[in-house]
Amino acid sequence: MTIDLTLEAREVPLGGLRGLTVHRTLPQRGFPTVGAWCFVDHFGPTDQPMAVLPHPHTGLQTVTWPIAGEIRHRDSLGSDVVLRPGELNLMTSGDGVSHSEFSVGDPDAPMHGIQLWVALPAGALDGAAGFEHHPDLPVAEGEGWSAKVLLGEVAGAVSPATTYTPIVGAELSVSHGYATVPLRPDFEHAILAVDGPAVLDGEPVAHRELRYLAPGRSSVGIQVPVDTTLLLIGGEPFEEELVMWWNFIGRSHDDIALARADWERAAGRFGHVDGHGDQVIPAPPLPQVRLTPRRRSVV
Ligand code: MN
Repeated sequence: MTIDLTLEAREVPLGGLRGLTVHRTLPQRGFPTVGAWCFVDHFGPTDQPMAVLPHPHTGLQTVTWPIAGEIRHRDSLGSDVVLRPGELNLMTSGDGVSHSEFSVGDPDAPMHGIQLWVALPAGALDGAAGFEHHPDLPVAEGEGWSAKVLLGEVAGAVSPATTYTPIVGAELSVSHGYATVPLRPDFEHAILAVDGPAVLDGEPVAHRELRYLAPGRSSVGIQVPVDTTLLLIGGEPFEEELVMWWNFIGRSHDDIALARADWERAAGRFGHVDGHGDQVIPAPPLPQVRLTPRRRSVV
């Protein structure tokens, strides 16, 4: 992959009565990852509440980044945390974990945020599950821009969050005008236009679109008409082939089928999230065909 491209968002209803509709830019058909980032859902601003009952994950880290509104996270490790704007929740599934997420606080306050997944490399698939809440993240600053660093490092500011592959994630605040933000040439990157349009290295990018930036650049030029928030993700190109289905990431159809069966029979692997009684999100039926790895094929 040597060329840049723009990935448009598609609207995905998360299900349930009054369920949130999200704007998904990753994965795309023929384009599964940016670094180890494999899932980008942008939700809101909306007055719909978030109400996601317990559900399982394997093979990934969940990254939850609220921009407005507060989210209560509970998981099978016993975590019970209210997440506020500017704070990071990072949950590592290892072999299995489950969690729930509900909006709390002022019911009239809009919800706005981003949920992302990071694929775990083979060596971390059988590790222990973990949960981290980071209320104080470092900030990098340059002329006309600042970056709150979620994962990895930007301009010497290093996030304390645990990572398993060379990766970066940061919320960029760019002042109206033009800014140059440093990038690592060995990383591929993508920038999500979170709250308005931007021009990235001369290319107009619409609100909610994700602009892929191929490796080999040491910076990106960002031009915005007003003060704008963007999300930067990136990392070393992730070479392992992933089989992704529902909330699971594995390396084969059988990995996924086993995870689904384990969730459906409430195996110990996924634990239990307190506070919801027996309520969980059931897994959908497996497709009739065998699941296959997602490969990059768009260019
Ligand atoms: Mn989840």
